[in-house]
Amino acid sequence: MSNFFSAGVAEADPLISNAIDDEVRRQTNGLELIASENFVSEAVLQAMGTVFTNKYAEGYPAKRYYGGCQFADVVENAAIDRAKQLFGADHANVQPHSGAQANMAVLMTALDHGDQILGMNLSHGGHLTHGHPLNFSGINYKVADYGVSRETEQIDYDELQKLAEEHRPKLLICGASAYPRTINFERIGEIARSVGARVMADIAHIAGLVATGLHPSPISHCEFVTTTTHKTLRGPRGGLILCREEFAADVNRRVFPGVQGGPLVHVIAAKAVAFGEALKDDFKTYQQQILNNAQALGTALKDAGLRIVSGGTDNHLLLVDVFMDGQGITGKAAEKALEEVEITVNKNTIPFDTNKPFVASGIRLGTPALTTRGMKEDDMKAIGKMIANVIHEPESEEVKRRVRREVAELTARFPMYPGRLKEKASGA
Ligand SMILES: *Cc1c(COP(=O)(O)O)cnc(C)c1O
Repeated sequence: MSNFFSAGVAEADPLISNAIDDEVRRQTNGLELIASENFVSEAVLQAMGTVFTNKYAEGYPAKRYYGGCQFADVVENAAIDRAKQLFGADHANVQPHSGAQANMAVLMTALDHGDQILGMNLSHGGHLTHGHPLNFSGINYKVADYGVSRETEQIDYDELQKLAEEHRPKLLICGASAYPRTINFERIGEIARSVGARVMADIAHIAGLVATGLHPSPISHCEFVTTTTHKTLRGPRGGLILCREEFAADVNRRVFPGVQGGPLVHVIAAKAVAFGEALKDDFKTYQQQILNNAQALGTALKDAGLRIVSGGTDNHLLLVDVFMDGQGITGKAAEKALEEVEITVNKNTIPFDTNKPFVASGIRLGTPALTTRGMKEDDMKAIGKMIANVIHEPESEEVKRRVRREVAELTARFPMYPGRLKEKASGA
């Protein structure tokens, strides 16, 4: 038995241990530009890998269905207090296992089965949980959707007003996964009130910018605010709900016992650590650098002849039209060519895309992860050139060889997770 409690994963399970080491190396040696990803601190990682994974804590602090929850209460209360402070919210529920579960709990709070919702079209930047036919949101509720205008590729708020009057939704859903522009939560709140709807603002992508005042906050305009904790917010993988006091009891009831059982206390511990980090002054400096880097990357790509959807970005992400009406390559081909040089991006539809979602005309790029590594505007300029070179000549082995070398040189200057990268002969 002593080995059971003392042997690490390297000793206990070489297959999984090697995959973990390989993943540390992959993350370290590549350029991570997936807009929804980030690198957590060693402190967040450590908090996640703790004995709190052993603990059942169904219920809420001081009202649990299990004994022995006194330290789970410390952790959850800290996470709640810090989340409320960070966003200026009346109430926080830190238990959702993911962004999707946070949204599910809010939809169950605000709606009855079959009620009308109005959400942003997925192919214009929305999210599956905002009414996609294959998602619970599209299965359980009546869905109408809004998008961006063809000319500006930005949300058309006048059109949204008309759609709201036409469909009379009970819940208007805003927030996006692939929208590079500022979202006008104030205007959306006015539109909702004019038709008697409530609003859920899903700030999964921009939470870090909102927390630091670099994107307008939805808190005073929207009844419900949901987010993931692992994107710009730079915490562990998970979800968070913020709402007004009047909805607090209902939201809690919908999270547990509505859609979840026991909370992941080890993840809530890591959320508390991450929220603590986000409350420090240097988190705002970090978020500002994310924005500066996105500007520099966008300019470099534009200068290299690629089309940026909506003409630019106000936030941490860029949607790049690599297809350009057939003159370029598909998003799918771009994703693959870039992966071959260890630049990680995802293909993404662009508004009014003529290619199918699995092929797509665009790629989505975000700067949060590389900014965490310490990269700045000059590095973004260099990366923009690398990306453009690969996209302009996706078949050229010579270009790929050169870019691979440039990626290796750049990443070597920004080491990560020193204690987690074990020295090891390759293979094994
Ligand atoms: C990422 C994201 C989610 C879902 O988060 P998961 O944790 O993957 O479930 C929900 N909404 C938006 C807008 C997102 O970008």
